Amino acid sequence: MNRQIEEPLSTLEQFVRDFAEARDGAWDQIEPRVYDVLIGSEITRVAFDPEALPEHPQAQLASLGSPLLDSLLADAAERWRCARFYRVGLNLHPHDLGSRFRQAISLSPTAIGSIRRVRTMNCPQALFWFKATFVSDQKEEEILLMGIDLHSLREVRHWDSLLASSGLSELPETHLPEARHVGLIAGYRCARDRLAPTVAALANTRRREWSGRVATQIQRMSAYYSRLREEANESFRNGDDAAPSRIAARRDAIDREERLRTAELRQKSNLRVQVKLANLMIVQQPKLLMSVAITDKNRPLGLLEVVWNPLSEAIEAPTCPACAQPTFALRIYRNSLVCASCME
Ligand SMILES: [Zn+2]
Repeated sequence: MNRQIEEPLSTLEQFVRDFAEARDGAWDQIEPRVYDVLIGSEITRVAFDPEALPEHPQAQLASLGSPLLDSLLADAAERWRCARFYRVGLNLHPHDLGSRFRQAISLSPTAIGSIRRVRTMNCPQALFWFKATFVSDQKEEEILLMGIDLHSLREVRHWDSLLASSGLSELPETHLPEARHVGLIAGYRCARDRLAPTVAALANTRRREWSGRVATQIQRMSAYYSRLREEANESFRNGDDAAPSRIAARRDAIDREERLRTAELRQKSNLRVQVKLANLMIVQQPKLLMSVAITDKNRPLGLLEVVWNPLSEAIEAPTCPACAQPTFALRIYRNSLVCASCME
């Protein structure tokens, strides 16, 4: 069968091709959606379409959740835990930074900001993928991404556009100096701290859901033990030959067993959470670092560092010189620039 129209590659096909090449292997397309893939010394026929399987009975199906794809994904995740890229294709020459600054930052009416210096620098963006495992009498996993700009130690908000595959390159477009930044360990600690509330919320949701199920199980269990106690009493009332002391002992045994089983069930349903770093990516993203001189009635108030982010095409909130919190509004207070909360 010869298809005239070329179908776009599916993400899975692209992944398998890339994976084979990255492992110094090769791939050969036999027909649309059927490949021979050489990885290591092994050639595997791979079909991305289940309908192709009857024609290629020796082929392995590559679909999400298939054993073949699971093993390739696990191999890739294990092999390449860390990746480094440069973000390319950004406009590093925005028009009229001065008016953009005036629009974005609110200053006291008498204050003036003038840009003294603009430097285009790489700001390393560290993206941490964490695997959170929630274990009780069942187990669930979630992959969570937290990105930290190592220059500003702020969370990366636009990581989806940062990671746009057409914008990532292993080589820089232009060689740029790196902006001052914290190390990876400090970035990791920051990412972990930022992620903690999310993990806690996910754990609480599960605890609520799962404990509801446990409560039902406990209810069923105590109904069962009530019936057993009822039967024990019944046999006493019916004047069966059992002595009263034996009936009491039987009831005690039932009570003990119920307490034990309930405690076991509660113990088993305690939720435990484990968070592990799974993958790391560093993306060098060019940003424009501006030095803005602030004056008030011709009186110099110092320099403010302001960052233009070419990815979001916006000015990032500068840090308040007094409390280091990000802010878009700076006022003059006792001859220095401060944010609104520092004036209170
Ligand atoms: Zn402040």
